[in-house]
Amino acid sequence: MSKIEVDADVARRLLSRLRDVLAGDGDAQSRLDGVAMVIADSLQAEVCSIYVMRAGEVLELFATEGLNQSAVHQTRLRVAEGLVGDVAARGRSLSLADAWQHPSFVYRPETGEDLFHSFVGVPIIRGSRVIGVLVVQNRDTRVFSDLEIETLETVTMVLAELIGSSDLVSRDELMPADGIGLLPLRLDGLTLAPGIGIGTVVLHEPRRSINDVVAEDPECELHRLHEALQTLRAEVDTMMGFDGVSGDSLDILRAYRMFAQDKGWIGRISDAVRSGLTAEAAVMRVHDDTRMRMHQVSDPYLRERLHDLEDLANRLLRHLAGEDVQDELPEDAVLVCRNLGPTELLDYDRSRLCGLVMEEGSRTMHAVIVARALGIPVVGRVDSVFSMVESGDSVIVDGEHGQVFIRPSEDICLQFEESLCLRQHKLQAWAQLRTVPAVSRDGVTVNLMLNAGLLLDLPHLEETGASGIGLYRTELPFMSRPALPDVAAQRALYSRILDYAGPERPVVFRTLDVGSDKVLPYWHSTREENPALGWRSVRISMDRPAIFLEQLQALVQAAHGRVLCVMFPMISTVEEFCQARQLLDMELSRQGAAGFVPSAVRVGTMLEVPSLLWELPALLDHVDFLSIGTNDLSQFLFATDRGNPSVADRYDVLSPPFLKVVRQVVRACADAGVACSVCGEMAGRPLEAVVLAALGVRTLSMSASGVGPVKAAVRDANLGDLAGYLDDLLNLGYRSLRERLRGYARDHGISLP
Ligand code: PEP
Ligand code: MG
Repeated sequence: MSKIEVDADVARRLLSRLRDVLAGDGDAQSRLDGVAMVIADSLQAEVCSIYVMRAGEVLELFATEGLNQSAVHQTRLRVAEGLVGDVAARGRSLSLADAWQHPSFVYRPETGEDLFHSFVGVPIIRGSRVIGVLVVQNRDTRVFSDLEIETLETVTMVLAELIGSSDLVSRDELMPADGIGLLPLRLDGLTLAPGIGIGTVVLHEPRRSINDVVAEDPECELHRLHEALQTLRAEVDTMMGFDGVSGDSLDILRAYRMFAQDKGWIGRISDAVRSGLTAEAAVMRVHDDTRMRMHQVSDPYLRERLHDLEDLANRLLRHLAGEDVQDELPEDAVLVCRNLGPTELLDYDRSRLCGLVMEEGSRTMHAVIVARALGIPVVGRVDSVFSMVESGDSVIVDGEHGQVFIRPSEDICLQFEESLCLRQHKLQAWAQLRTVPAVSRDGVTVNLMLNAGLLLDLPHLEETGASGIGLYRTELPFMSRPALPDVAAQRALYSRILDYAGPERPVVFRTLDVGSDKVLPYWHSTREENPALGWRSVRISMDRPAIFLEQLQALVQAAHGRVLCVMFPMISTVEEFCQARQLLDMELSRQGAAGFVPSAVRVGTMLEVPSLLWELPALLDHVDFLSIGTNDLSQFLFATDRGNPSVADRYDVLSPPFLKVVRQVVRACADAGVACSVCGEMAGRPLEAVVLAALGVRTLSMSASGVGPVKAAVRDANLGDLAGYLDDLLNLGYRSLRERLRGYARDHGISLP
């Protein structure tokens, strides 16, 4: 037998002996002692010691074979102190022929280690954290082979499970090495959906716990690994075969496929299996190694690639488990994730979710829109949160102030329970307004409608008492599917929405508004420098008329015998509107010939691009209604990227330039007899909403959570009086009118949450 075969044989036998130790009687401490003994014996090492991380970044000697037993639970080293601390700090193995020569060496007389020269230290990693160090030492200046070091690295998997799943140390002590795991934490992020959630952390894509680490039969494990890899590759191939996959998404999938076939990656996993681990434990070992490396890589491109590998390992683990096992959620789950894919949130039991915390995220991303529709508070852009919490930690999501409290103290919990209680009272009060109209104190009726985009938004029509859907974002159902829906699927969806709304509640369907941050996973253009100003929305519809016409066909068919309201997004010129309308007219006559005839057709435009402001009279000649999309209009007027948190809130919509634009549009619409509404986020915030109403806007369309508070504020306001106040304010050159308007609201009894 070659040396390598001998070593591999030793590794296998070592793991099999470890399995016996772990399966044996006795408490965790005695099993740990047994593990140290077996390792030393199998590797013919004179010393094997196991250090475990304790509170305050301290590594404590927990078991040893070969050092003085009296040092156990006495010898302690801080992270970065001595060779053991060095291994923990770097999270990498260290092998030295003569430890005494190393500058970090620290001599601890109580251990009796003065006799030993060669040293191998291997970090014990659980998740992405170092929770201990395994050390092997010999008297002579021996050089350990790579295979021996790898064997030790494999053994640390066993140790990680033993330490992590026993009561050797409390769970809190295994928290991050910088000690933050022990303390309550307050992290700042960005409010993406309002509300307060008090609950228990559930990690999205959590570290799977592995029941069997050591394999009975490595051949069988290799076979399982092989099968799971086949399934994984087939899965990626299927994704690549979806219609319309191109550009970036295709590149990403290609990279995935490359990784799924990567000989180095598969080789490392296979070697770990050959050394005696189960397929799951082997994937996990390589996976943990990748995660550790990820923490040390600052290059964003490389981090992304490592992230892909991590995703792939997660998928592989799922395939090895044979199914997508979703652990039972706690009653009050707060999902913590790096990012969330289009349908992933919906995979969870919604009735048990009370909050969402993300490392990434933006207001307009799909998961966030879904969460908002479900009334789940969301805080996004919380740096590194995923590695700071463990499943089971207590957590508070403050979607009012964009903060997250991890392991909060009792005082903080009490405070938030009170806020939650208050919020629930308010929700009840708003719910009671469901059946009363939004009429101001001076008798002006404001029409409150819903922004929707998913079927789960529909019940909000009843719950809020909204008078219809003022903006149906048709791109959302497109985003949550694996491929472009065909005409029949679209027609079925649009019919269902019209059926639900009934004849009394109009639904305004906005045609596809994809591009910018709304990416269809299966269909995307090449990378753009400025996607918000790029090939998006109606521009794509005009350049891909086949897709546009299919959507129009589905809309006309669904509206047979009832009113069809269609609105085009991102219109920049009158001509563009006329071209889109022409295509609609074409489809109307084609469908009319086939027997599909809406009872009435109303065609409108979004006003999001400032160029239209100088074409208003001409535009208004052609449209039946106009809806101001303040989200995009404000980003273009102020030249601030709405998705960039460092500038998104730099300028205020409650400022003279923006409000003057709204006033100008409202007046032009009134002169032309064209209905004007606002459907950007601004319409759903009470202070902004009453200001818009005072400027003459009579229809506001908003997400469901806005209807109650906006109605309450409108009913408190005297719009005529506020209009007079505004007229004066708008000409005084203030940068923002927010504080003054808030003061006005306070003085005039307008309720603001
Ligand atoms: C807007 O831009 O204001 C709008 C309502 O459209 P979206 O948020 O979907 O871009
Ligand atoms: Mg928009």
